[in-house]
Amino acid sequence: MKTDSKPIIIAVDGFSSSGKSTMARRLAAAIGYRYIDSGAMYRAVTLYALDHGFISADGTPYSEAIISSLHDINIDFAIQADGSQHTMLNGVDVEKEIRRLRVSNAVSPVAAIAEVRHALVAMQQALGKSRGIVMDGRDIGTVVFPDAELKIYVDASAETRAQRRFKEMIEKGAAVTYEEVLANVVHRDHIDTTREESPLRRADDAISLDNSTMSLEEQDAWLLDQFNKVMSR
Ligand code: C5P
Repeated sequence: MKTDSKPIIIAVDGFSSSGKSTMARRLAAAIGYRYIDSGAMYRAVTLYALDHGFISADGTPYSEAIISSLHDINIDFAIQADGSQHTMLNGVDVEKEIRRLRVSNAVSPVAAIAEVRHALVAMQQALGKSRGIVMDGRDIGTVVFPDAELKIYVDASAETRAQRRFKEMIEKGAAVTYEEVLANVVHRDHIDTTREESPLRRADDAISLDNSTMSLEEQDAWLLDQFNKVMSR
């Protein structure tokens, strides 16, 4: 790797629970870049909407109410002593709250609102202004940073992803069943790939990775290799 190389942008896109956040976070730590979880931003807006009664009992968002509140929603990331980042919503640490099934079940319709996307994409682009970031999401390589020097598109079967998410949630003490988690994953895949505004799709210049049978260490090594290839160009 050339040590004088300019910092780059690394976009990691893929389906929910594909392990992209873990791999993006670990890569960022290994190369000294900032990691940004764009999904956490959509989750924070959704939590705000839920807490303000802007989502109906059947999960339909009241788009007008959400859009007109966007200027009241401030999202930030607070770096913790152990290096991890917590999502802050209007100054309150909501990291735990935004990971609950209540938010997971409501987030995709909120993320399909064009105005919500425009506001968050602008914030994400501002965060990447000086480059040197790894950002994960659904549209990072296609819409947020089409000029990212390294784009990864992560794929794995819905069952593999649901199994992973289920294990994570059980370890955190959540009372959920595998079937509930699988239903949520399949539902979100559907909304994320069929929405009109920047649906999840692989950027033409993205490198695909199916990590279904890869260990974390194998994944780390593969990613670092892709990074080094770009940096030595
Ligand atoms: O990545 P995560 O699963 O936490 O994202 C939560 C939801 O936010 C996704 O299901 C998707 O609907 C939405 N999202 C998005 N665009 C992104 C990141 C997340 O639409 N860049």
